[in-house]
Amino acid sequence: MDNLDEQNYYKDPEIRFIGGEPYLDINFILELSNAFLDRFKNGKIIINSNGTLINKELLELVKSSHKNRLIHIVSLDGIEEVHNKRRISRNGQNTFKQTVSGIKVLKSLNMPVYINMVLDDYTVNRLNDFMLYIKSDLDIHDLSVSLLYDPDNPLSNDLKYNLIKEAYSLAKQNNILLGGHHRLLLGLENPEFMCNAGEKTILISSDKKIYACQRFVGRIEAELFDVNTDFNTVSCGKCVADECYSDENKLLGKKIFDLYSNGLSSYRSVNSLDKILFGVI
Ligand code: SF4
Repeated sequence: MDNLDEQNYYKDPEIRFIGGEPYLDINFILELSNAFLDRFKNGKIIINSNGTLINKELLELVKSSHKNRLIHIVSLDGIEEVHNKRRISRNGQNTFKQTVSGIKVLKSLNMPVYINMVLDDYTVNRLNDFMLYIKSDLDIHDLSVSLLYDPDNPLSNDLKYNLIKEAYSLAKQNNILLGGHHRLLLGLENPEFMCNAGEKTILISSDKKIYACQRFVGRIEAELFDVNTDFNTVSCGKCVADECYSDENKLLGKKIFDLYSNGLSSYRSVNSLDKILFGVI
């Protein structure tokens, strides 16, 4: 924080907390968030959470002047039946109800909250019901989708494209703004989308190693910097993202970009949801 303050390089710095579940260490999150938001009046905190530990008592610990700059992205994979099949709790509790309760508390306090779902050939089947649900019951009108990432059983490019296509078709019908990591694949079609991981944001792992993003954690060749690095001068995000712009991904990015020509042209530029979902563009 001292470094950021002195250099005054970033106008609106952000801290992003990602899982495991950040709220398992509530004191750490709240202390750091309060200190950061006090110091940087344009700063934002973004917390990726499963929402199950969020309740009113917890959020009362957030200063009221910080509430609109503490942004939650909550994982919810579908309507109750779908989500509970995917997110099974060890003690048999209904994780859907817990997560939705967390979202409702955030909404009741007017704190910004977004939903991210994992998209695959199971969740897509009930996606229309899910969109209807988030609009009518949660008053949420945008949705982030993350294509299922399973290194042992990767989705084919064709399946990824078909899932994305279906999601956009349903989003259009339901008047939902759609976002998600797939949007970064458009970087070669529109440079606004080019991922700047490692340059605009970094990830520090629990063993204090520094990476461009979560995807590279644990891979020695992907460690970016050491503790002496001056974060105000580094500019090497794009080099680690080479892997992300593989030929397959470039092709998928192009197909998605072309998909937007069918009545979805506003998606061809970066929008407000993209800015929330990614610290890299
Ligand atoms: S570096 Fe990370 S955020 Fe950027 S495109 Fe690759 S996986 Fe995505």
